[in-house]
Amino acid sequence: MTTATSFDPPAVFRFAPSPNGALHLGHALSALTTYSMAKRLNGRFLVRIEDIDTVRCRQEHIDNCLADLAWLGLTWEEPVLRQSEHFKDYAAAAGRLHDMGLLYPCFATRQEIADAKIPDAVDPDGAPIYPGLHKSMTPDEARARIAAGQPYALRLDMTAAMREAQRRLGSTDLTFQEIDGDGNTKTHLCKPDRWGDTIVIRKDTPASYHLAVVVDDARQGITHVTRGMDLFAATDLHRLLQVLLEFPAPLYHHHRLITGVDGRKLAKSAGDTSLAHLRQQGITPAQIYDMVGLPRPA
Ligand code: GLU
Repeated sequence: MTTATSFDPPAVFRFAPSPNGALHLGHALSALTTYSMAKRLNGRFLVRIEDIDTVRCRQEHIDNCLADLAWLGLTWEEPVLRQSEHFKDYAAAAGRLHDMGLLYPCFATRQEIADAKIPDAVDPDGAPIYPGLHKSMTPDEARARIAAGQPYALRLDMTAAMREAQRRLGSTDLTFQEIDGDGNTKTHLCKPDRWGDTIVIRKDTPASYHLAVVVDDARQGITHVTRGMDLFAATDLHRLLQVLLEFPAPLYHHHRLITGVDGRKLAKSAGDTSLAHLRQQGITPAQIYDMVGLPRPA
C-alpha cells in the first residue's frame, strides 16, 4: 500500500482539537500533517471539536481555532461535529458496555485514590493506576449511594474487558496498524491493561476522552486517525473499546511532537508559539509549514 493510492470509498481524516486554549505550533503540525495526508490520498478532511469538558472549553476558543485553521489554508466539511452536543451517544455506548457487565461505579475522591495508590503502579501517562477502591462494592450499596446523589465515575473493569475482547477476537492478540508517511504499515500489539480500570464516564462530565473519541471516529467513518505520539499508548485503549463496541479499526499515524525549549510538549498556554501570536508577528502560513518541518504545499 502506498500514500499515492486513493481509497474507494475515499479515506476519511480528522483533526480533533480540544478548545481549551489557543492553537499552537504543535496543533499546526498535527492539522497540517492530517490535511497533507488526506490530500495525498484524495481523502476527506473533517474537523471535530472535542469539547466534552464544558468548563474548560469555551466558544471563543472554538471560533479562534477555526479561524486559525482557515488562515493556515485548510478547508473542511461542514457541519463540524461538536462533542458537547452528543453526550447521549456517549451514554448509549457506555450503556452497552454496562450491559456487558464491564463497568462499575466509582465514588472515590481524588484524595482517596491518592491515599490508596499502589507504589510504582502508574499508567502510560504517569498517573497512578486505579487501586480498585469500590470495585467490589455490593450493587445495593452502589444503588443507595447513587440514590443519595453521590457523584460517581464509571470505570472499565479491565480484566473483564480484556477477557471479553479476547473472546470476541478469538485471539489474545489485540493489535492496531500504524501507517507511516510513506504509506507503509506496521502492526502493534496493544496492552490496554497498562491503563488499569480506566474511567469511561467521568464524574464531572457525562463522557470521557477515550469513549467519545472511539464513538466519533466510528460515527464519522474515520479511516485514518492522525495525531501526536503523546496519544500512542491511548490507542491500545481505543482499540479495546472498538472491539467491545464492534466499531471498525482505523489506521493510525502518530506523528512526532514539537517540543518547547525545555524539551517538553508545547502547552496551550505557550503564548509565543500560538498561531494567533505568530500571525500578529507577520509570520505567513507558508512559514508555519517551515517552522513545523513540513514541506510547503505545491
Ligand atoms: N482532542 C485531542 C487533543 O486535542 C486529540 C484527540 C485525537 O486526535 O484523538 O489532544
